[in-house]
Amino acid sequence: MPYQTDNIFARILRQEIPAQIVFENDHALAFMDIMPQAPGHTLVIPKYPAETLLDLPAECAGEFLQAVQTVAAAVKQAMNAEGIVLMQLNGPAAGQTVPHLHFHVIPGSIATLRQPHAHTPADPEQIRQIAESIRAAMASSR
Ligand code: 5GP
Repeated sequence: MPYQTDNIFARILRQEIPAQIVFENDHALAFMDIMPQAPGHTLVIPKYPAETLLDLPAECAGEFLQAVQTVAAAVKQAMNAEGIVLMQLNGPAAGQTVPHLHFHVIPGSIATLRQPHAHTPADPEQIRQIAESIRAAMASSR
């Protein structure tokens, strides 16, 4: 199926709907998940319109993974996390619910994922405060 340009992350990329953005460069955008599986749950998406990792041109993969690494480091620092879980689902059969490639960056461990996947909206004010800390961690590492 061709890439669906009306998916929610494409709309966030086009700034049609708001998001708590914590990182942006020419290749990627990162923002807070509104239904976090743990506090600090952040999503990193490429600007390239790929539905899954398998649709991302190989020449875009390096820049995108660097963005994931940058965001993971800032989330780890901001949340004072010992570990970071990276999760990335490809296709509805794998449980992917938004058809634009993304990495989940989740502080903690697989055992501390408090909420089921894409299930419970968190308090927007709490998400905003956590986003502030992640942006501060990002700025301090530059
Ligand atoms: P997937 O199931 O595709 O791997 O993950 C999609 C993620 O997007 C889920 O963790 C879900 O909570 C999150 N999500 C769904 N809708 C929105 C939205 O409108 N804004 C944000 N920031 N996250 C969303």
